[in-house]
Amino acid sequence: MANPEVRTTLPNARRTPRFAGVATFCQYPPIERVPPEQSPVDWALYGAPFDSGVTYRPGARFGPRAVRNESQYVKPYHIEHGLQLSEVLSLADAGDSPIMPYDCEQNARVVADFARTIGDPGHTRLMMIGGDHSNGLANIRATFDRTGRPAGGLAVIHFDSHLDTTNVTFDEKYSHASPFIRSIEEGLIDPRRMLSVGIKGPLNTPKDLEYPRDHGITVVFREQLMREGTTTIDAFLRRIGDAPAYLSFDIDVVDPAFAPGTGTPSVGGLTSAEAFALLRRLATGGKDGQVRPPNVVGADVVEVLPDRDVQGITALLAGHMAFEILCLDGLRRRG
Ligand code: MN
Ligand code: MN
Repeated sequence: MANPEVRTTLPNARRTPRFAGVATFCQYPPIERVPPEQSPVDWALYGAPFDSGVTYRPGARFGPRAVRNESQYVKPYHIEHGLQLSEVLSLADAGDSPIMPYDCEQNARVVADFARTIGDPGHTRLMMIGGDHSNGLANIRATFDRTGRPAGGLAVIHFDSHLDTTNVTFDEKYSHASPFIRSIEEGLIDPRRMLSVGIKGPLNTPKDLEYPRDHGITVVFREQLMREGTTTIDAFLRRIGDAPAYLSFDIDVVDPAFAPGTGTPSVGGLTSAEAFALLRRLATGGKDGQVRPPNVVGADVVEVLPDRDVQGITALLAGHMAFEILCLDGLRRRG
């Protein structure tokens, strides 16, 4: 008997152990097995097993499988928020997108085409698990369309060690270094309502800083975050308010000591505890003591490279980051 209070059917962890069964993201049901009373789902997670857009070490194409595996141990009750996620959101695993392993531009098209059709496009929100960050462009394209192509573009909250606004690398415009510059050019996102958190160097050239500065992207460098805490982030959240926002989480924003399984590791990053704290801070909307999360209409968690991982800790962290992001929308809907 389905319990109408429960939005997502999860295996009973007291009866079916978390190490048994076919692995789906966080044990959410495969989308084709979601009961009618839970359809259309509020959020669908899907994999984008593509990594031909990397500038350094490849292997993130195996990220979705690794995250599925390790996320079996992501439990549904959030202590700090006091939120049973499976009671407020219906959730599903929509499988993996088709990909085009030899061509970044075509891949971004194919993944976006797949993402546009998942669940009910007018209702179901998408979280993409990468794969490299070039897939972000595809999920942003789909999210923009599914959100009714908002005038001025989506707001963006971006966690990363890297700006990802490099125009061309190795004569290629579509890569994991360029998802946001392409999204801005296509009018999908608004650079003046874009926040990049955790950015750090060294860089190839100081010119890399020019594009975000000239286009009004709010950048919070790693050093700045340690000095000022969430001051700039809070102000940004208050400014975007309820605008439809895309949240992109590149796992390399976390220090390689905590997230070694990634292709462009950047030392001196966040601890995993700081990453949790920042995502939980978003729930305040930038106002102490309040619960006013941004209106996250689409998201990704990218750049997990399992062959460089140690004991699955990076993939496990990625699963938890996905959960934290979903909880922001869960909190909003609970009101
Ligand atoms: Mn990135
Ligand atoms: Mn990065």
